[in-house]
Amino acid sequence: MGGMNSSRWGYGPVKRTTCNSLPVDIRQLKRLGKLDHGTHLLQWTSGSTMAMYVNAYATTARFELNQQTLTTDIVYTDCHYGGSRPWFVCGCCFSRYAVLYFGKAGITCRGCNDLLYPSQKETCADRAIRKAQKLGIRLGFGSDLINGELLNRHKGPPKHMHQHTYDRLLALYINARTRAFLMV
Ligand SMILES: [Zn+2]
Repeated sequence: MGGMNSSRWGYGPVKRTTCNSLPVDIRQLKRLGKLDHGTHLLQWTSGSTMAMYVNAYATTARFELNQQTLTTDIVYTDCHYGGSRPWFVCGCCFSRYAVLYFGKAGITCRGCNDLLYPSQKETCADRAIRKAQKLGIRLGFGSDLINGELLNRHKGPPKHMHQHTYDRLLALYINARTRAFLMV
């Protein structure tokens, strides 16, 4: 009973957690100047290191890992107050993400790597994102922090929500979202 792939209780395979894979946070890369054209060394506190090459227009990042080369596209969205924000494109589901993980499935988003999220080990940024998403859902914007407000704000407060509650939650939402995006 209980081989490498069984859970302690024998109810199926143990899910890998994001702690067992290497996260790459594009906000952090940007902050550290590692989205500039050229080769950069990425380091994790676990001691893992990896080389990453960014092309001239910073539209792709190429990772060299154990003689394996993995390429990820980078896209940009405009910020409300000018400038632009970079995102990784998951090569598996083609959605935009701030964080990708090196795991079984190559470099992909958390969902595509089928990783279980250990909420007690969430980073501050992840917590801020979750908080903003929760507010967004209450306001009827959904969990999409990029387009949710833009697409749904004209609808006004959801049924049974007073205008003043809506205004208060909206202010909290905008705050939480800004924090989530600024935080690394
Ligand atoms: Zn994905």
